[in-house]
Amino acid sequence: MNLHRGIGMTSQRTRDRMVQQLQQLGIKDQRVLEVMSKIPRHLFVAEALASRAYENTALPIGQGQTISQPYMVARMTELLIEDDLPENVLEVGTGSGYQSAVLASLIPRVFSVERIRPLQDKAKTVLDEIGFRNISFKHSDGGWGWKACGPYQGILAAAAPAEIPAKLLQQLLPMAKLVIPIGEEGQQVLQRITRTDSAYEVETIEAVSFVPFLKGRA
Ligand code: SAH
Repeated sequence: MNLHRGIGMTSQRTRDRMVQQLQQLGIKDQRVLEVMSKIPRHLFVAEALASRAYENTALPIGQGQTISQPYMVARMTELLIEDDLPENVLEVGTGSGYQSAVLASLIPRVFSVERIRPLQDKAKTVLDEIGFRNISFKHSDGGWGWKACGPYQGILAAAAPAEIPAKLLQQLLPMAKLVIPIGEEGQQVLQRITRTDSAYEVETIEAVSFVPFLKGRA
């Protein structure tokens, strides 16, 4: 692992403190906590923000986008893997690549789609440097999913559409879960959709605040 910036505010002690805070906020899945205690989150933000990387907050990553708050990364991952660890997962919104790293530490094959090329390029470089070899990337509008590599045992989206994209539902295997924020800015909720044999079961988890799910590539 490339830990050349792993001193002071970016040390193991700082990561442990973040994990303690996640536990206090109700994250229970030990697999998620363990993985987040190891991943060097500071490498996924600009060097000037590295000292704030372990605060429980979203931070700017350029192009008007943000790295998701650690609590949200943990909660979404926990919801995705609660019953069974999926074999393959589609992530919509690579962004900084931090959520991809969390997923790829737990799940054998991760497929990540991002509409903003420079963000995805940067994420790829960091993930490659840290040593992840089980993530595939596509520069595309995640509203289409990634059919060629699916269907998936899980899908996670980090941007909020007004309605659940039909293509994502179609690319779920039976019993698979989609974890996604839904709704307009200021009134979003996190939902978990489980595909059953004959229907989609929707659970509403909690109020959230994500960047919008936009159409097309940039
Ligand atoms: N999990 C990422 C979240 C980044 S923010 C992280 O923690 O860094 C959400 C990302 O979703 C942004 O990078 C944004 O460009 C991307 N996004 C928004 N709409 C999208 C779409 N339709 N397809 C693919 N990516 C999208």
